[in-house]
Amino acid sequence: MNEDLPKLGDLADALRSGATTSVALVEAALEHAASLDKLGIFLDLDADAVLDAARAADSALARGEDLGPLHGIPVAIKDNICVAGQPLTCASRLLDGFVPPDHATVVRRLLNAGAVPFGKTNCDEFAMGSSNENSAYVVARNPRDPSRVPGGSSGGSAAAVAAGIVPLALGSDTGGSIRQPAALCGVVGVKPSWGRVSRSGLVAFGSSLDQVGPIASDVAGASALLDVIAGSDPLDATSRAETYDPVDLAEFDVSRALRIGLPKEYLDQLSEEARGALDTALSKLTGVELVPISLPHSRFSIATYYVLASAEASSNLARFDGVRYGQRLGKPEEGLDALYRRSRTEGFGDEVQRRILLGTFVLSAGYYDAYYGKAQAARRVIREDFEQAWEQVDFVVSLTAPTTAFPLGSKADDPLSMYLSGVFTVPASLAGIPAMTLPIGDDELGLPWGLQIIAPDGAEAAMLRFAARVEIALEGLE
Ligand code: GLN
Repeated sequence: MNEDLPKLGDLADALRSGATTSVALVEAALEHAASLDKLGIFLDLDADAVLDAARAADSALARGEDLGPLHGIPVAIKDNICVAGQPLTCASRLLDGFVPPDHATVVRRLLNAGAVPFGKTNCDEFAMGSSNENSAYVVARNPRDPSRVPGGSSGGSAAAVAAGIVPLALGSDTGGSIRQPAALCGVVGVKPSWGRVSRSGLVAFGSSLDQVGPIASDVAGASALLDVIAGSDPLDATSRAETYDPVDLAEFDVSRALRIGLPKEYLDQLSEEARGALDTALSKLTGVELVPISLPHSRFSIATYYVLASAEASSNLARFDGVRYGQRLGKPEEGLDALYRRSRTEGFGDEVQRRILLGTFVLSAGYYDAYYGKAQAARRVIREDFEQAWEQVDFVVSLTAPTTAFPLGSKADDPLSMYLSGVFTVPASLAGIPAMTLPIGDDELGLPWGLQIIAPDGAEAAMLRFAARVEIALEGLE
């Protein structure tokens, strides 16, 4: 845990003791954000809207209406999540000028909890990427070292928290886009079980994988934010029916040692330095039994993910045709086909076009069975690997990413090496199970490593409680 970053719990206490106000908090945050403009964290930050919401939060508190832990707290929002009346671009030229008419369900829930939406954060275009370099607008930089990437695709959200601008942010994770940037920036990020959080108002990328989740400066903050956004939603038929009860992080069962699985297929891929970082963190944990396990099909994860996520993306992004959605870049007299072609060719960046081409190919007649069908089968065995693991262990643990934050530009021309930075995050996405990252200390350059905890389906509460224990055990570890 980074001691210098503002924590939700401290801010919430200060608001209630009268030591501060929401307006004072957001004024400081706005100033801080302005001073860090060069980090490219925000795509849109409407100071008036932020201040209005903070004033409303303060008056409610003054009237004795306390809406809970997030009341008056600024929360940054990834720019693929709709906030009514605020521009949404998904960091794409194609959506330049689009203003959503309605809130995403997660945003509505934040507002009902008294939170203050704090700007729209930079990301990879349509959430496709691992470095934030696929943003069509501005390069996002890592607050820990501005010559390096913040990770992606939720790089702006992770950077907003890591820079200490806000204690909380929303990201989205399809194959690692919350966990990997949170790890590279040294903060906490949680990908819930698929269906735990409503996707209504999240711009779809790979619908069978997409999840909204929290990024925070500590485990308690992430947990409190998940408490607010999780739960079934009539606007998302795939959201889970069961209620999600607020998690009490202090509720540890210490009657038996937790069994922690270390997959050999993940360990085999670690550099010596990475292995050292993982071992140091593991050596600090008490009350755990480390169990070597195997996830034999994990080596198919990256290939499987890029077939399935791209197939789903090619279908989801078909709506951005310059007629129904998106900027219209052709001229009507050139005909409809030319209008579609120009809007999509000029509106979408290279990586998005690459995914659409790949996705369209793997779904096409004659190739469907060989690629899409095969990937579905591979996804099934990857999920079964985890089901077998749960017979032996309570959680699976790994590093979140194979490296710490890499220099800007170092992978930008090499899509395959970029894809490989999701090697440890993608399997849990394919399995639909919860996974999170928390910081475990820095490398020789002072760049943070993240520890990933993967949990059984639906076991967010147990995962967060374990993470809170790990956080305490690692306190002061650098
Ligand atoms: N890096 C992965 C990709 O490019 C994951 C993205 C995500 O989770 N949105 O697809």
